[in-house]
Amino acid sequence: MMNPTASDLCTVCNKSNARLCNRCKSTRYCSKACQQGDWLTHKLLCATFSTFNASSRPTNERFRAILFPVDDKNPKVIWLHCKWCDDGDDGRYQHPDRGALLGHDTLIKDMTIQYNPVLKRNLSDTIYVSYRDTFLVDGSKPNKSVAAITATKPGQYHDWRGSMIAYGKVGLGIDPTACKDLDMNDFRHITDFFLSYGYTPTPATQQPTGINIKGVRINCLGDRKMLSKPSFEAVEVSSTDPIFSKHDTSDIAERIGLPILTRRCPPDPRWENNEDSKMFQNESPFNNQDATFLHLCCDPTAELDFHTGTMDWAWAPQQWQNSVGSAIVVRQDKKPLSPLHVEALCKYCRYEIRPLLAHAMGEYAPEEPMRKADVLAMICRPTFVIYWYKLLDEKCKGGEDTSAPYPYDV
Ligand SMILES: [Zn+2]
Ligand SMILES: [Zn+2]
Repeated sequence: MMNPTASDLCTVCNKSNARLCNRCKSTRYCSKACQQGDWLTHKLLCATFSTFNASSRPTNERFRAILFPVDDKNPKVIWLHCKWCDDGDDGRYQHPDRGALLGHDTLIKDMTIQYNPVLKRNLSDTIYVSYRDTFLVDGSKPNKSVAAITATKPGQYHDWRGSMIAYGKVGLGIDPTACKDLDMNDFRHITDFFLSYGYTPTPATQQPTGINIKGVRINCLGDRKMLSKPSFEAVEVSSTDPIFSKHDTSDIAERIGLPILTRRCPPDPRWENNEDSKMFQNESPFNNQDATFLHLCCDPTAELDFHTGTMDWAWAPQQWQNSVGSAIVVRQDKKPLSPLHVEALCKYCRYEIRPLLAHAMGEYAPEEPMRKADVLAMICRPTFVIYWYKLLDEKCKGGEDTSAPYPYDV
């Protein structure tokens, strides 16, 4: 017992003389009410914890930790290897080997829990929650075991992806050194952490404020080929992202009633100067045709100006033509945007609208060029909706995923 004075306190309300949970013999409750209040999340680990053999510790460098697997709704109790390391300075600290479970292909970061905001109580020791630093952009899937926890309370939550680990260290302070076993009391603090982190009780129809916004990244050739990313990728965009202060827009998206903000992304250092980028031969790895078509100008009064990069009718501005790189897109109203919405927008611009813009330029001679006003009249919600269903139909036939809300509904 790390904290003998707290040993008979109720996990939920902190009253003394609390009794142990019959099954896991780890959490204490002062009353049925406190036990029932904790049950929805407690039951996710109680049985597993009770069958975990605490006397099976393989070495004294192994500590009881909790794994939140990405693809299983049940958290697991594990022995986590926590090696003693020298910090070269004034001592030693224990370093848990999280890479073996979370993957060695990314940085692993920790969040610290020393206070429970739901119970409004300081903890006596520190809990760490580890995650893959790149989980939002490296193709990690949503974490099912964390989702099972957040499913116990309706609301919007942070989009945790990839497997995660929780482990403990003795004491508080900035940098506790020694690891410790986690128990079911700690599990309560961890579930409260997931239930409060980025939580917003507003229903999906209301606009989220101060949280991440669901946007889409249009990946350039380099990101697609070198990092195996999809062309259109769901990303979370922080409400403090520069896109909300400095951005471009799409004329066409604006005209069809789905105004968006766009910005270019800096190149990914993992391949930017990579020898392998030679495999692109004549194509630039920064090529991003979808983003280029999304920015076609349909302003009949626009005039070519090389100084500002403004291009005229049927052309994308210069910064969206060559070496574009990957791009981020969000809705101007900050409502969620899905990859299929952006794919439909880009392809609508490319296959439906670009030929019309070109027709007005006389590219279909000897046909008399369409009047620009007639072209503009065709860039509208009905023609986009028709294209939307055409695209869904094509994808359906190809066996592709077509699950996305109706673009005008969200
Ligand atoms: Zn209680
Ligand atoms: Zn229990």
